[in-house]
Amino acid sequence: NKRNRRYNFNPGPAALPLEVLEEAQGQLVDYEGKGISLLEMSHRSRTVEELNHETQILLLTLLGLPQGYEAIFMGGGASTQFALLPMNFLKPHQTANYVLTGSFAEKAYKEASYLGSTHVAASSKDHKWRCIPAITEESLSGDPAYLHITMNNTIEGSRYTSIPEVTSTPLVADMTSEILSRKLDLNPFSMIYAGAQKNLGPAGVTVAIIRESWLELASDRIPEIMRYAAFATNKSLLNTPPVHAIYMMNLVLKWVEKQAGVEQLEKYNLVKSGLIYDVIDGSGGFYQGIIDAKDRSPMNITWRMANEDLERQFIAESEVHGFEGLAGHRSVGGLRASAYNAVPHEACQALAEFMLDFARRHG
Ligand code: PLP
Repeated sequence: NKRNRRYNFNPGPAALPLEVLEEAQGQLVDYEGKGISLLEMSHRSRTVEELNHETQILLLTLLGLPQGYEAIFMGGGASTQFALLPMNFLKPHQTANYVLTGSFAEKAYKEASYLGSTHVAASSKDHKWRCIPAITEESLSGDPAYLHITMNNTIEGSRYTSIPEVTSTPLVADMTSEILSRKLDLNPFSMIYAGAQKNLGPAGVTVAIIRESWLELASDRIPEIMRYAAFATNKSLLNTPPVHAIYMMNLVLKWVEKQAGVEQLEKYNLVKSGLIYDVIDGSGGFYQGIIDAKDRSPMNITWRMANEDLERQFIAESEVHGFEGLAGHRSVGGLRASAYNAVPHEACQALAEFMLDFARRHG
């Protein structure tokens, strides 16, 4: 194509819309005619304050949460949220509940275990993470502080088709690889969080969206810099924020608006991932999908092939044909195509065709 861009299926940091990159490039040296770059600007300036505020409102609006929630921008990635969540919301007499659906869910659970009592409400580990387990109120411990789920499992390639119906305890979700990819009523959640580097922008900023009434219950016995409430009170300008990452997120959110919002992106995403799942399902076992069909993710499509040599050959040939990032996570192997919002239909079409051709030649 005109910028010699590769078909980018990286799991994260992931593809960004070309027009977002070009807009940022145009503004890099002289931000909106101010004679300096945003990279050089004080975070106490009116320009940055306004950008920060506008981005928070834009995000809440696109998520369908214009009222009653705070959007907080932090550093540290989604992994830091694994620790901040229990620091803020797990009281000494309570138990934090986790559903284990993959390695990021396990990491979240382990971090909470350093801080207090934890309980595995459900797990698909014995099924090699191939499915999303059922959860009911009976799965929970006594005196639960919250129930944590990982909405989309980036490494394994599974996702919750619907939100678990647990109303007796605050529901919290890691939405790092899923946020803004489909229309969901997020009101059942007390908190969601996401590292930006998949559907929101570049790495460096992490968002936590917390219901205001739950935020009031957060601990004030932890250092201020760890407190969600302190970030909310200070509009996420408690210390120096990752200004440029927030700016890039602002551009991505405006791009989402231009695509006619999340509902439209959901439709595109189902068509895009469908192109690849159809090839897997129609390959007579040449490509073997890893996840049970009902729990498959449109964001991270995972499969295996007959042996590791063939998988290595697939990856090597795909790279020659202009594809990027198709190797599975180093912990699980196999293949993975991450088709986040910014991955164009054309890239998924090209991958489907490449997969058909490869199967013809090697099947
Ligand atoms: N949670 C999920 C679902 C992820 O996909 C990732 C990263 O890929 C993380 C957490 C960890 O994010 P970070 O690297 O921002 O700490």
